[in-house]
Amino acid sequence: MIVDGQDQRNINKASELLKAGELVIFPTETVYGLGADALNIESLEKVFALKARPKWDPLIVHLSDISKLEQFVEAVPDKALKLAEKFWPGPLTLVLRKKKIVPDLVTGGRETVAIRVPRNPVAQSLLRQFGGAIAAPSANRFQQLSPTTALSAFEALGKPNVMVLDGGPCEVGLESTVVMIEEKATKILRPGGISREDIEQITGQSELNLGVAAEAPESSESPGQSSFHYAPRTPLKLVDLTDIKELILRKGNKRLALVAIGPNEHVERLRDRVEIHYLSKGEHDLVTAAANLYETLRIIDTKGFDFIICLRAPESGLGLAINDRMKKAQHGYF
Ligand code: AMP
Ligand code: MG
Repeated sequence: MIVDGQDQRNINKASELLKAGELVIFPTETVYGLGADALNIESLEKVFALKARPKWDPLIVHLSDISKLEQFVEAVPDKALKLAEKFWPGPLTLVLRKKKIVPDLVTGGRETVAIRVPRNPVAQSLLRQFGGAIAAPSANRFQQLSPTTALSAFEALGKPNVMVLDGGPCEVGLESTVVMIEEKATKILRPGGISREDIEQITGQSELNLGVAAEAPESSESPGQSSFHYAPRTPLKLVDLTDIKELILRKGNKRLALVAIGPNEHVERLRDRVEIHYLSKGEHDLVTAAANLYETLRIIDTKGFDFIICLRAPESGLGLAINDRMKKAQHGYF
């Protein structure tokens, strides 16, 4: 059932449920998460089962604050610490060498664990009340769209018998940026709510490590980055403006939805052939566009279109993460 996440009585109840080994769905500033006690194997098993998530895809562990970090990880590289100090609480996940206490089920058997301190007030209240670490992947079935409202989380998991803390729509709306600091390199394993430019302000140059063969995601550096993910049911393609006209022509009389960042004269000219869905009111407002991306795709998915065409965003700021998600949402025959 969905309950008010701002009511402390519900936070207390949710915390009790987590301690008793149950799951709780809660908001973070990125997307809604399906939370479990990160040290309780039986609870973790329930997460994988409800999400139909393969065990090789590791979970992100959420902490209330940076002081809890040392309980779960070995020495933190200097640059990682600087990133944590700058961007926590917030949509940054750090992949760090784990301590023994972290179960293999959380990390997919890796020596590293992904950790984040979220800033959403409901997530913060829950983490503080619970006191421990909450492992929480997005509250949706494997490879489907991540939910950014309480209702879409509840529905995405098939209306499970799990408490859903409602904290309103997610502020960022895209998953966290996953970063791993190595001796010689800063690797961005997943672009997300903190831009590459912001990361590089702290670390200097970074590498984008996104390329993963779809056939073997389990052996990749960041398994969740497999090339199909975050997808609506309707066939979807990411295109550049220059390719749209040809694609529309080729689709003859099919029902097409077009997703674009914001109003633009080139897109407006296509209005008689496609239903346009702008993610923001401004052509360059990537922050609002990111916040609306998943919910827009989810709504389009219920409207019976034959195809969704997504127009590529500029590759800067949150545009990198928006394009990454739209690219991974691609499927179907075009
Ligand atoms: P989410 O699906 O938002 O819960 O994010 C989990 C993703 O974080 C995984 O699919 C991986 O891509 C990444 N991740 C989690 N743990 C690790 C780890 N130990 N090493 C590398 N990437 C990780
Ligand atoms: Mg996910």
